[in-house]
Amino acid sequence: MKLTILGKYGPFPKAGGACSSYLIEDGDTKVLLDLGSGTFSRALERIALDSIDAVVITHFHYDHCSDLGVMKYALEKMPAMRMKVFSSPTNLIGEPFEHHMVFDGDTTQIGSLKLQWFQVIHSVPCLAVRVTNRDGSSLFYTGDTAYFEELSKYAVGADVILADTCLLEREGNAVPMHMTAVEAGTVAKKAGAKKLLCTHIYGGIADENEVLKRVGFDNAIVVEEGATYEVGNGNG
Ligand SMILES: [Zn+2]
Ligand SMILES: [Zn+2]
Repeated sequence: MKLTILGKYGPFPKAGGACSSYLIEDGDTKVLLDLGSGTFSRALERIALDSIDAVVITHFHYDHCSDLGVMKYALEKMPAMRMKVFSSPTNLIGEPFEHHMVFDGDTTQIGSLKLQWFQVIHSVPCLAVRVTNRDGSSLFYTGDTAYFEELSKYAVGADVILADTCLLEREGNAVPMHMTAVEAGTVAKKAGAKKLLCTHIYGGIADENEVLKRVGFDNAIVVEEGATYEVGNGNG
C-alpha cells in the first residue's frame, strides 16, 4: 500500500502548500483521504478522475473538504460517473456523489481495502480511519483530534500512523482540538506503531523541524507534500 501526501497543512496552507489530502493506492484500488483546499489538482497530476474508487471525508472543515466542491464541477461533466464519498454525518453532499455516511464502529470495504471508523474529539463530528489491505498492512489516520487515551488503542499495531500534529504546545487553557507534537509521539509509542508520519502542520509555523524535535518517537518524520511513503511490506 502506498500513501502520497497531496497536502499537509491546516487549518490554512503555507504559501505554495495545500491542506489535508492523502492518496492511498493498493494495487488498482485508489482512495483519497480528505480533499482539502488545493489538492484536487494535485490528485489529477497523479491519477485519472475515473480511476478513483472513493473519497473519504473525515469531517467538514474546509481544510479537509473544500476541494470536494470543485471535484463536483468536474464530475458534472462526466454524467456516467458516480463518485463514492464516505464521510462523517452531514447533509452537505448530494448529486453527483454517491454518499455513504459512516459512524463510529463501522467497517467499509473499498476495493482491496478495509476501512474501520472511530469517533475522535474535535469541534465538529470527526472520524479517524484505519485502512488495512489484504496483506494485513495498515495505516491509521487520526483525522483532526485532541489527544485522548483510547486513540492509541484504535491504532495498535499499525504500520504507519498519520497523525494530526498541528500544535507545538498547548496554549494556555484553550480547548484542545488538535494534538501537540508530544501527544502525536505518545500515540505512536503506546500503539507500538512502526512509523509516525506527522501531518496537519500549522500553516503559520516558522520551523517545521521544531515539530520533529518535540515528538520524542524515533521513527518519525514530518511528511513532505508530493512524497510517497510505503505502508507495510510494499507488496500492495
Ligand atoms: Zn484540519
Ligand atoms: Zn478540523
